[in-house]
Amino acid sequence: MPMHDSEKDEAEKLQDAPAFEQPLYVNRPVAVNKQGFLSRFDQIWDARWFTNDGPMVQELEQALAEYLGVKHCVLASNGTAAMGLLIDALKLEGEVILPAFTFVSTAHLLTLRKIRPVFADICPSGHDISVDHCRALVTDKTTAIIATHIWGRPSRITELQSICDEAGIPLIFDAAHAFGARFQGQMIGRFGRAEVFSFHATKIFHTFEGGAVTTECDELADRLRKFRNFGFTEYDQVDCIGTNAKMSEVHAAMGLANLDSIEEILTNSERVYEAYENGLRSVKGLHLAGPQSKAETNHYYIPVLVDEAEFGMGRDELVSVLHSENVLVRRYFYPGTHELAPYKTSDGNGTSLPETKSVSDRIVVFPGGGSLTVKDVGRVCELLKRIQSRHSHKLMSDTRLG
Ligand SMILES: *Cc1c(COP(=O)(O)O)cnc(C)c1O
Repeated sequence: MPMHDSEKDEAEKLQDAPAFEQPLYVNRPVAVNKQGFLSRFDQIWDARWFTNDGPMVQELEQALAEYLGVKHCVLASNGTAAMGLLIDALKLEGEVILPAFTFVSTAHLLTLRKIRPVFADICPSGHDISVDHCRALVTDKTTAIIATHIWGRPSRITELQSICDEAGIPLIFDAAHAFGARFQGQMIGRFGRAEVFSFHATKIFHTFEGGAVTTECDELADRLRKFRNFGFTEYDQVDCIGTNAKMSEVHAAMGLANLDSIEEILTNSERVYEAYENGLRSVKGLHLAGPQSKAETNHYYIPVLVDEAEFGMGRDELVSVLHSENVLVRRYFYPGTHELAPYKTSDGNGTSLPETKSVSDRIVVFPGGGSLTVKDVGRVCELLKRIQSRHSHKLMSDTRLG
């Protein structure tokens, strides 16, 4: 039966409609415990203690230290501020080694303090900082290594620690991705001299905006607390130079609410991860970059490497096709920090980081975490197969026409 024009329009519209009516985001903020937040908000309101080391901040610091199994947790207004406090408290100078394949914030903090960021390459398996390259980059000017636990998985902690011990410098971890991850059965948060978390809204555990330094060292924790609050030690007494990096009570209340639900958040994340693991197995050319050990990841990130020859389409084209279907995948970290405008330096720092380049050219991060359902993931994987076969048919007919 011939279609009426209006029916044809309708059919075309359906074909043009994105596969997902509502966009799927990478790291859409977790919002699971509204009541837990609101009841604490009422307490804050009634107490009229809104910031300056209030009861919510103190409770969250204790609860996090306990959860992570570490002696001190010093909360801060965001992850970058927390890392800044730590760099200052440790009096870093000269050169600091860090991966190029990470978020740009640490390189900025170092550069603003006239410390030279020295970019190391990554391991092709795991995408964490390369231990061998770190060792080669240590000089007598190196004052620390800051490694990122990328994709919510531990770095090669033991090997990095021995490099730092030999050089007599502190090992610091950017644990912004890694809340809830483990290393040899212990929670991330207690390794190196200190670890730095981000509790930004897009992270697995968040306080809207926020961050923390965790450490076993009493003296370091004291300094961080002073630096966080303008150098005040007592009322009217300023002992050192400091800044304002305090967390407010409302932010801490969100943290307490999310901590109540952390097991649920981690479990959802794992289910979604496993659904991708199963679904992507039948998509040729897309490879979920798996963790070294499933027991150690928080499952929050879905990093996928696109093999252009196998998949039949390059990474960038896939990203734009998926965006048109409302699957808002992201290329990151792309490009490596060493290739960003402020770091493309004349001294050639990090110009040749082959693994960083290879990964950042092929990586695409899929929507993951707890905001998706297993069914959504199934639909995403089916969509990927459709995109792949549509594309190969198009290529075939293009070749015939040509
Ligand atoms: C989010 C993030 C940061 C920055 O944390 P903020 O809380 O946004 O300042 C730093 N490093 C990594 C790896 C991150 O993912």
